[in-house]
Amino acid sequence: MKSEIPLLIVGGGPVGLAASGLFSYHGVSSLLVERHPDVSPHPKSRGVNARTMEIFRQLGIETDVRQAGLDPALTRYIVSPTARPGCRAPHVWIERDGKRLSTLDLFGPGFTLLAGAGGEAWAATARRAAARWGIPLTAHVVGRCDGLADPSGAFRPAYDLDVSGAVLVRPDGHVAWRQRALEVGAPPDLDHALAALVGR
Ligand SMILES: Cc1cc2nc3c(=O)[nH]c(=O)nc-3n(C[C@H](O)[C@H](O)[C@H](O)COP(=O)(O)OP(=O)(O)OC[C@H]3O[C@@H](n4cnc5c(N)ncnc54)[C@H](O)[C@@H]3O)c2cc1C
Repeated sequence: MKSEIPLLIVGGGPVGLAASGLFSYHGVSSLLVERHPDVSPHPKSRGVNARTMEIFRQLGIETDVRQAGLDPALTRYIVSPTARPGCRAPHVWIERDGKRLSTLDLFGPGFTLLAGAGGEAWAATARRAAARWGIPLTAHVVGRCDGLADPSGAFRPAYDLDVSGAVLVRPDGHVAWRQRALEVGAPPDLDHALAALVGR
C-alpha cells in the first residue's frame, strides 16, 4: 500500500524528537525513523537546560519529563540563577515595610515589572502600556526606601541590572524581557515588548 507523508524526519535523537513534537504541535504530520530499535544504554541527557524545559512545557510534556528524572535533591546539580529572558526569575530577599519577602512572591497572576532604583520611568511606561493593551501588570521599583527595599544589595547583581534597568517577568515567573540600563535620550519602549508577548 502506498501512502504519502509531508515530512520525513531521520533520527530520533533530541533534535529529531523535538522537531517531530513541534511539527505535531503546529499541526504538521511527519514520520520519524530511527535506526536503533531501543534507547541508548549510556545516559546522554543527565541535565536539561532551562530553554529546553520551556519547549517541553510548550509541548505539554514538562511534568512527564520531571517525573522521569531524579529528585533535584539527589542530583545535586548546581543551579545558576540568571535573569536572562527565558529563564526562571531568580529569588532574592527584599523588604516591604520592614518585612522580608522574596522577589518570587511578587510574580503572578499578571506580568511584573521590576526596575532598579533609578528606573521609575520604566515603571510608569509599563503601567501605561499595560493599560493601553489591557494587560494585568504590576510595576515595582526595587532598592528605594519608599517601596521595595533591597537591604542586602543583591537584587541588581542577581538580575544583572544597572540602576536604571528593568526586567519584565511573566505570570509564571519566567523572564520575558530585560533592559539592563536606560539608554540616555531614548524613551523606554515597553509597548512593543508587551504587545508582542500577548500576541497583540
Ligand atoms: C555521554 C554523553 C552525555 C551527554 N550528556 C548530556 C546532558 O547531560 N545534557 C545535554 O543536554 N546533552 C548531553 N549530551 C549531548 C547530547 O546527547 C547531544 O547533544 C544530543 O544527543 C544531540 O542530539 P541530535 O539529535 O543532534 O543527535 P543524536 O542524539 O546523535 O541523534 C541522532 C539520531 O539519528 C539516528 N540516525 C542517524 N542516522 C540515521 C539514519 N540514516 N537512519 C535512521 N536513524 C539515523 C541515530 O541513531 C541517533 O539516534 C551528552 C552526550 C554524550 C555522548
